[in-house]
Amino acid sequence: MTSTLLSTAPQAPPVLSDVAPAAGAAGQPSLVGMTRDGLAAHLRAIGVPERETRMRAAQLWHWIYHRGISRFDEMTNVGKALRERLADTATLARPEVVAEQVSTDGTRKWVVRMAASPADRGGRPAEIECVYIPEADRGTLCVSSQVGCTLTCTFCHTGTQRLVRNLTAAEIVAQLVVARDRLGDWPGGTRPSDGLVPAAGERAVTNVVFMGMGEPLYNLDNVVDAVDVMADGEGLTLSRRRITVSTSGVVPDMPALGERAGAMLAVSLHAVRDELRNELVPLNRRYPIAALLQACRDYPGVSNARRITFEYVMLKGVNDSDADARELVRLLRGIPAKINLIPFNPWPGATYECSSWERIQRFSDIVFRAGYASPVRTPRGRDILAACGQLKSATEKLSARARMMAAETAEA
Ligand code: SAH
Ligand code: SF4
Repeated sequence: MTSTLLSTAPQAPPVLSDVAPAAGAAGQPSLVGMTRDGLAAHLRAIGVPERETRMRAAQLWHWIYHRGISRFDEMTNVGKALRERLADTATLARPEVVAEQVSTDGTRKWVVRMAASPADRGGRPAEIECVYIPEADRGTLCVSSQVGCTLTCTFCHTGTQRLVRNLTAAEIVAQLVVARDRLGDWPGGTRPSDGLVPAAGERAVTNVVFMGMGEPLYNLDNVVDAVDVMADGEGLTLSRRRITVSTSGVVPDMPALGERAGAMLAVSLHAVRDELRNELVPLNRRYPIAALLQACRDYPGVSNARRITFEYVMLKGVNDSDADARELVRLLRGIPAKINLIPFNPWPGATYECSSWERIQRFSDIVFRAGYASPVRTPRGRDILAACGQLKSATEKLSARARMMAAETAEA
């Protein structure tokens, strides 16, 4: 079975992964995704003397997050006895990649199945999606912070998902580890053979955006821990300036995000009047536009060098008039801002349409004349439904297909 598929047509079938299985058979914890404190706690629990835990945790950290290894016996500077003890009590398992799709434009989407957790409340193990978008000067990984979302933005399919749970910090970090595995993005790693990933020697994943499923600020503690692991200079080494957390506007938690995570902020604005934003982003009824923008002005560390990204989804006849564009630039005056116009990604049952290209162009011209550069986010990975707001539909389709294929393989 091949592990990747280059899709040339929409809806191309996914392929089951050949990458490491999920959690240990005996239910041991995986060390992959753990914080330094978590690693130290595990070492203590298996009897490593207190005076050694810091040094041992640093060794594990290096192997797991700098080298990306997946077997304890590769940890050559860790004594055999401790390696065996580790192998008896823990794993280096990653969550399982149950499907992968590769777009003709190089965008990759993975359906990632987390290990079973009590938080699943007896249901199926959580599945989320993770999308990789290569561009000339960067490679961006879009990660999820929750399974589903408790908010109900009317244009977003994730918000219609029934089951919602927070991902742990480890499950968030593991999305980056899985991406690096799949992309051969560890020292000495081998890139996929399709030529769609930046050449070896360059980092394939240079940026992370929390723009997958879920509202990151409703899972703040885990997001902060995950950002700390991703940004650690001795491990995954992503600068905090290259980690962006997107919020629909959970105003009371925005200062804590800035102070604790030091991440870049993106705000899903989508409307310039409260009446309309109440409808599109119902959370606006609690935290209206004025309060949201004040929280942006006060965001820790905001400056012209660290601008806030305002996301604005283009909905035909709803929020896309010239007057909306002019009001948008008026509202943002004085806030160090970037504007991302996002073409609406339709999903089955959606009641909105994407604005026409001419309309988006007009809107973008007005924004551009106000001093904001190239604000339209080019649709990527459309052939594999890899865009924001399509994640839920895509997950369901893919996992259904993946299950079918697994059954066929088992029968064969
Ligand atoms: N919950 C957070 C982060 C996840 S959503 C938030 O709302 O910001 C990431 C981005 O995708 C948000 O800007 C969201 O508004 C946008 N989005 C959701 N559904 C979309 C759709 N169908 N088309 C285009 N963008 C969408
Ligand atoms: Fe949740 Fe963001 Fe979707 Fe709104 S847009 S439902 S906050 S994931």
